[in-house]
Amino acid sequence: MTVTELAMVGQYFKVSLDHLIMGLIDYWQVAESFGNDTFIPSRFRLFPFSKMRDPLPAFLEVVDTRSNAEIKSLLKNFGLELEMLKSAEQRIGVYFKLDLFKLMIRNGHFSKSLLAQIEQRTSNQMVQGLMNSTLKNQPSPQGILQSWITHHDEYESHFLPKIVETRKNKIVLTLTPNQHMQEVDYLPIGKSICEYKLAYIKGLLSISANTNSEIKESDCHFEGNHACTYHLQWKAS
Ligand SMILES: [Zn+2]
Repeated sequence: MTVTELAMVGQYFKVSLDHLIMGLIDYWQVAESFGNDTFIPSRFRLFPFSKMRDPLPAFLEVVDTRSNAEIKSLLKNFGLELEMLKSAEQRIGVYFKLDLFKLMIRNGHFSKSLLAQIEQRTSNQMVQGLMNSTLKNQPSPQGILQSWITHHDEYESHFLPKIVETRKNKIVLTLTPNQHMQEVDYLPIGKSICEYKLAYIKGLLSISANTNSEIKESDCHFEGNHACTYHLQWKAS
């Protein structure tokens, strides 16, 4: 197929040529633009207020550290195929991340070293996509956090972040479960959601040059508090 033909195919399916070549297709959007239901199993269509951008660092870590056969069998249990999940832009229901985390915890794969990897992968161009330049153009860690909050629906809207205090080189941020989470049984996954979020935020901050950030949590939702409260601090650049 020539590039021109490929571009026409892309145009027909409303997928950019870049994304088509890289296999980063938002199948959910393609199905909807033709008035069809997405192929995603019904469990992962419930509460679809997340983009793959949010669970992607964890998912890619699993993909890169397991054999093809293992990945295939894992995804078969989920009723999914690898190609379906490569686009960070694609919507995915809340249970994808919860089920993935549950599996990783059960297999002993949810560890400190995993979280360090997550932090690295968060700033990845493949994970952030167009959001990467939005974040990169921010002059400071405050700007990055503000931008992340403003564009939170490009990540996930199951837990809502809010800046509650801003000082020079310091921010206090809370993370509160959204209303619909009352209907989702997420507490058994517990602390891993919070640990993942911390690693993700730290990774985001590393997009800003000269930032050596530190994050500490004072209250945790998973230990009975209304919200998780994070204290973020960094050295002046
Ligand atoms: Zn917490």
